[in-house]
Amino acid sequence: MSKLLKERERGSLIIISGPSGCGKGTIINEYLRNNRDHAWLSVSCTSRKKRPGDEEGVNYYFVTKEEFEAMIKEKKFLEYAVYNGNYYGTPKEYIESRLASGIDVLLEIEVQGALQVKEIIPEAIFIFVMPPSMEVLRDRLVGRETENREAILGRFKRAYKEINEVTKYNYVITNDKIEEAVLKMQSIIISEKCRVDRIEEVYLGNEEEEIHELLRDDKSFINKDVEI
Ligand code: ADP
Ligand code: 5GP
Repeated sequence: MSKLLKERERGSLIIISGPSGCGKGTIINEYLRNNRDHAWLSVSCTSRKKRPGDEEGVNYYFVTKEEFEAMIKEKKFLEYAVYNGNYYGTPKEYIESRLASGIDVLLEIEVQGALQVKEIIPEAIFIFVMPPSMEVLRDRLVGRETENREAILGRFKRAYKEINEVTKYNYVITNDKIEEAVLKMQSIIISEKCRVDRIEEVYLGNEEEEIHELLRDDKSFINKDVEI
């Protein structure tokens, strides 16, 4: 069967932001469970301390402040930002090769970093995850039991600033019921694959001739009183 379209095979760069505790990590993990063969979550570097449950090379590459600053000088980051007194950055390595081989690359990063990516790669897909309310956000942050009171307060204050930046993103997902939020993320990514600007070529030959050939090969026309 001859194909009608040649579409861009390059993977999409997908940026996911939202206030700490809104559920970005939970949504992404669920999404990856069903899409691991064609999607990859970039592992960032950070100078923050490990939290209970954090694994080196899985959640982050944990480095010192000095090591992070050396990496900035060596231009190792696609973007980086300071969040709650710690550095966070996306290593450039592996991103381009994965995109080129058709893998979608997910970056779970805060707003300043996302806006840096928007400057360099405006065609990336920018998704903002919103909590249903500030009360729910507080409950999720406290319920996660990963930070002390001071860190929670810092993250909560920052949430107000971040939510104000939502209109700089392409999509917003309110994370109320987790299954619905994951479905929305899946739908956004699928819709982006259907954009006509991904079409590189349309293979359409001579219309009359092709119709004629297709009908001539169609056995259901045999012995029918149709001249083709
Ligand atoms: P983030 O990655 O945005 O900081 P997490 O994914 O760590 O947030 O989620 C924060 C807390 O909220 C976790 O304890 C998680 O289990 C919980 N959570 C996430 N999404 C939901 C949801 N839709 N309903 C209820 N709890 C949720
Ligand atoms: P946490 O300390 O909760 O793991 O992350 C704090 C914030 O840093 C979250 O909003 C998370 O999305 C963001 N973050 C994680 N990695 C990066 C990164 O590489 N760059 C930027 N700019 N933000 C990041």
